[in-house]
Order: sequence, then structure tokens, then C-alpha cells
Amino acid sequence: MSKEVNAVIIMFGGSGDLAHRKLYPALFGLFQHGVLKDHFAVIGTARRPWSDDHYQQIVADSVREAGATDDQAIAAFAAHFCYQSHDVTDADHYVTLKQLAAKLDDQYEVGGNRLYYMAMAPTFFSTIATHLKSEELLTEQGFNRLIIEKPFGHDYASAKALNDAITGTFKEDQIYRIDHYLGKDMAQAILALRFANPWLKGVWNKDYIKDIQITLAEAVGVEERAGYYETAGALRDMVQNHVMQLVAYLTMDEPKSLTPEAIHQVKAKAFDDLHRYTEAEAKQNFVRAQYTAATIDGQAVPGYREEDGVAKDSMTDTFVAGKILTDNPNLAGVPIFIRTGKRLTRKSTQVTVTLKGGASPFGQVKGNQLTIYIEPNEGYTLEINAKKLGETTTLEREWLNMRHEPQAVKDAPEAYERLIGDVLAGDQTNFNHWNELAQTWRYVDVISKAWAKDQTMPTYEAGSMGPKAAFDLLKAGDHDWYWQPRHTQLAD
Ligand code: NAD
Repeated sequence: MSKEVNAVIIMFGGSGDLAHRKLYPALFGLFQHGVLKDHFAVIGTARRPWSDDHYQQIVADSVREAGATDDQAIAAFAAHFCYQSHDVTDADHYVTLKQLAAKLDDQYEVGGNRLYYMAMAPTFFSTIATHLKSEELLTEQGFNRLIIEKPFGHDYASAKALNDAITGTFKEDQIYRIDHYLGKDMAQAILALRFANPWLKGVWNKDYIKDIQITLAEAVGVEERAGYYETAGALRDMVQNHVMQLVAYLTMDEPKSLTPEAIHQVKAKAFDDLHRYTEAEAKQNFVRAQYTAATIDGQAVPGYREEDGVAKDSMTDTFVAGKILTDNPNLAGVPIFIRTGKRLTRKSTQVTVTLKGGASPFGQVKGNQLTIYIEPNEGYTLEINAKKLGETTTLEREWLNMRHEPQAVKDAPEAYERLIGDVLAGDQTNFNHWNELAQTWRYVDVISKAWAKDQTMPTYEAGSMGPKAAFDLLKAGDHDWYWQPRHTQLAD
């Protein structure tokens, strides 16, 4: 049983999609695992005028939709929820919120701990932080911790302005900038794979590695998120955060221990070590594109510019591929190919590390390939050169496959549960420090600036794996994408 944590949790954006789909089920998971037990309360805030009863019903529905079936536990959990209609721009509302938090603190004997969750549009993050300070919501006793959702800014300058506003109220060790990829089991598994397997440590360098490939492919289009996506695009929505986190895990030096300080030290260095391109180099090494209409499995799907809420002349990238380099001497020169996009052939996040081939007593042999499946499947594949059965020296390619059982994956805590649990425990390991975010924005800004000067937008057919240029990027240097799915293939 996990250690119980007392807290009043204030949720800004309590009627929103994220709260409904992810956060209430995550809190329920923590309730079932005993992290939240008797001494906690959640205040949901949003503009709608809901009653506590109605809100509790919404919370109960949300956890049921996520698969919970224990009615007694659901009712006991939902009873800890209160609702306050709250306009985040109205200072008076914070006074009411403070009083309600104090009342619930007394009622549940919490002892002053507060968790503030900003689960609403980023334009409001600074306003909320400023009001939490001016209306003196932070408590003297207990902890005050802030969870802040992505996107954290739009570029370096806006991220810095947001950070300045937040750090006017919260200290760095009170701020938890969330990137839910860091809560994923298989993202965390990269560290165990790299640093708990001596043979892998021995080959994780430029002498042995030919290339590293990271794919975050989505099969869906922009769905109902066009309003947000039009301001972001794949580069800001996926590369600046999730892709960069994986790059750091794959290129960082070995941490001295698993403490948050030790991990952040090597991660920050990995971001500092990213090889900086000029704008001209960024244009050569990064490819963007937009999906066009196609028929996928007999169904017609619209192109990006035909989607609801998307401008007919939109210049938003729905696909990015690129070659990233690090100046870390261990891996200098090893290309890290990344790609991410919407309406690709299949949904999958996976990483492949290709080792160099070479001469052997068996003749010229292909290098090994190690693939880490992050989602939706979770596991590993290692390709080896093996002796063919019954023959003396003939080799064949063998695949050593391991996948976690789908049920075990389902039963493991979801990323949000793990991450909120970390915040309650005061563990910042899986959250972004400001200096890390600043570096990733600086890196991505060069690419956005290079693209902003170019009025052409390449395209790819919906259901494909991106434009030809994304393949040419690798072929130029005798590389090729390891994962080239077809619609007819079984899931990896
Ligand atoms: P949403 O639009 O569904 O919800 C926004 C919430 O903010 C609602 O509860 C709304 O009532 C409230 N709100 C809006 N204006 C307000 C005001 N003036 N005062 C008080 N409340 C107000 O948004 P969402 O999809 O839940 O996203 C929330 C945050 O989480 C965003 O930063 C988003 O980028 C991030 N995020 C969302 C997802 C997701 O799957 N939905 C995934 C990753 C990150």
C-alpha cells in the first residue's frame, strides 16, 4: 500500500476534456491505491454554474467511463469533490476559493497542503498564478505545489514570459511542468534498458551506433482540436516536448543515481549538448508537410485544409521529420532521426537503435536493431544474426521479441496517475525544469524561423508515412526508416 498524502487539490478547468478523460480517473487510481484516502478534497473550478451534486455525478461518470466498476468506491471517492463556479480573471472568486479550501482543509484535517492543477487554456496560466499570489492562496503550513499543463509557451520568448509569471508565485521546487510522456512506462524503461544492461552500456556510443530513430505516429487527424492545432502544428505540439524528452533519454550520460537531482543534471546536459543548427541547416535537416485527402480502408478522409476550423491556406505542419545531432562526444555524429505526424498509417510510438554492421568470420553482417515499443504496444524487439537451424555457418535474421501482456499494461497505473502521485510525493524526477524547457524551445525556434520564411508547404497523402522528403532525408546518408508499416500488417 502506498503512503497516504493529505491535500486539498484545486483543479482549474474542472469541466474540461482533460479533467474528464484523464485527471479524475488518475485521482481515482490514487484513491484506490491508498495515496488519497481520508484526508483529501478536490475543488473543481470552471465557469459553469454547477452544484456539488452535479459535479460529483460528472466525476463518477468519468471514472466509470475509464473502466471503474466498484460503485461503493466510486461513491466514496466522489464525495470528496466540491465545485466552485470561478472565472479565473475575477479576483473576488479567489477569495471565495481560499475560504472554501480552508473549510475543506479543516473538515478533512489536511494540514495546509495544496495542489493547484492548471488544466485549462495556457492563456490563463499567468493570470491564475498572479491571482494565487495577490489573493494569498498559498498556505504557510504544508506544501504548495503547482502542476502546469502543456503547451508551456509558443516559443522561447512566450515560455520565458510564462515562467516569469509563475515563478513570481511559486519557487522552482514547487513547480511541476507536466509532459505526460515522462509518465509512460516504456519511456521510463529506456533508462533501465540503457543503464542496467552492461552490454548495452558498452555499445551505446558512436563507435557502435549507426543511427537512432524515434517515431510518434498518430493515425487520427486533427479531430476537434483545430483551434489549438492551428496555433501549434506538429513541431510545437510534439517535437518540442515529447520527442525532445525521448531524445534526452536516449542521448544523456549515465546519471550517478536515480534521484531527481541526478536525473535532471544529465538531462539538462543532454539538452545543452544538442547540436545547434543555423536556420539554413535547419531547413536542410527538417522536413514539414500537411496531409491531403485520401481514402483509407474504404473511407474518405479530408485533407488538413478541409478540416473544420482549419484555414484554407493554413501553413500549419501536421508532419515533421528531422535529423538531430548531439555534440556529446560519446554520440557525436550519430544521426537521431525523428518523425511525428497526424493521419499516418498507424498509431505507434517506437524507438529503434541500429548498430553498425561489419566484417565477421561469417562474412559481412548486418548490424543489430533494438526497438523499444512505447505505445500502444509496450515491449522490445532485438534483431540478431543467428545460425540457421541444421546448417553450419549460414546466418539468418532472428527477432527476439518481448511484449508486455495487454492486460498487465491496462492494469499498470496510467501516466497521469503516476505523475500526479509523484507530485503528491514531492518527486520532480519526471517533470521539466525550466532550463530544460528553455533549451528545447531555443532548438525548435530556429526551425520555426527557417520555415516561416518559406511559403511552400509540402504534402503527404493521409494514411501514408509522410512525404517522400522524409525518406530522402535518411537515404542521403545510407539510412532508411526501420518502421515502414502498411495498412494490412498486424500491429507491432
Ligand atoms: P477544455 O477546453 O476542454 O477545458 C477548459 C476548461 O477551462 C473548462 O473547464 C472551462 O470551463 C475552463 N475555463 C475556460 N475559461 C475559463 C475562465 N475564464 N475561468 C474559469 N474557467 C475557464 O481544455 P482541455 O482539453 O481540458 O485542456 C486543458 C489543458 O490541458 C490545456 O492546457 C491543454 O493544452 C492541456 N492538455 C490537454 C489534453 C487533452 O487530452 N485534452 C492533453 C494534453 C494537454
